[in-house]
Amino acid sequence: MYCTQCGEVQQTGASYCHACGKTLHDPTANAGNTAGVQEMEHAVELGAEEKLRLFVGKNHEHYLKKWNNAKDPARRAGWSWVGFLFGFFWFGYRKMYAYVAGMIGAFFLIDMIDILIGRADSNYITTGIAVVCGLYCNAMYYQHAQKKIAKLSQQHHDPQALAQALVKEGGGSWKGVGIAFLAFIGYAFIAGFLFW
Ligand SMILES: [Zn+2]
Repeated sequence: MYCTQCGEVQQTGASYCHACGKTLHDPTANAGNTAGVQEMEHAVELGAEEKLRLFVGKNHEHYLKKWNNAKDPARRAGWSWVGFLFGFFWFGYRKMYAYVAGMIGAFFLIDMIDILIGRADSNYITTGIAVVCGLYCNAMYYQHAQKKIAKLSQQHHDPQALAQALVKEGGGSWKGVGIAFLAFIGYAFIAGFLFW
């Protein structure tokens, strides 16, 4: 099944396009059901899983699988190589700017330890932070998504408007990576004055 507005391939049973938020009319969903024609005139209410799918957008299968397999996805949801290797920029890509700011705080602490104790010890801490990102970034993303979904669900009572708001506020953003990059350059510049 494809979205008629943007052409993105859709999962069977999805009511809204995860790329643009448009209502989908799945012909198989109402096959042989004459009442279905009438029902389609009203927007379908969004379930918890569909809200997550719309919010995550790109790679939603990957994250939904991790979260569904986890006992408590808000606390731990599998290992993430992307989080381990690119945690800081990945937070930017997923528009988790509070976490980008938190990482800048962590860089500051590392630089402080560098000066007070020495580079060898700060390298352990840098690695430690990367491991924490690998271990917990899927859970952090789950918490972030649920918080945003709750807020948007309160603001939009029409399911079609909510679907579009979820797609707009969520998803992946290279602009977000750019923001993280600029934050990093900005920090390095300030740290240059403070520490050297
Ligand atoms: Zn679409």
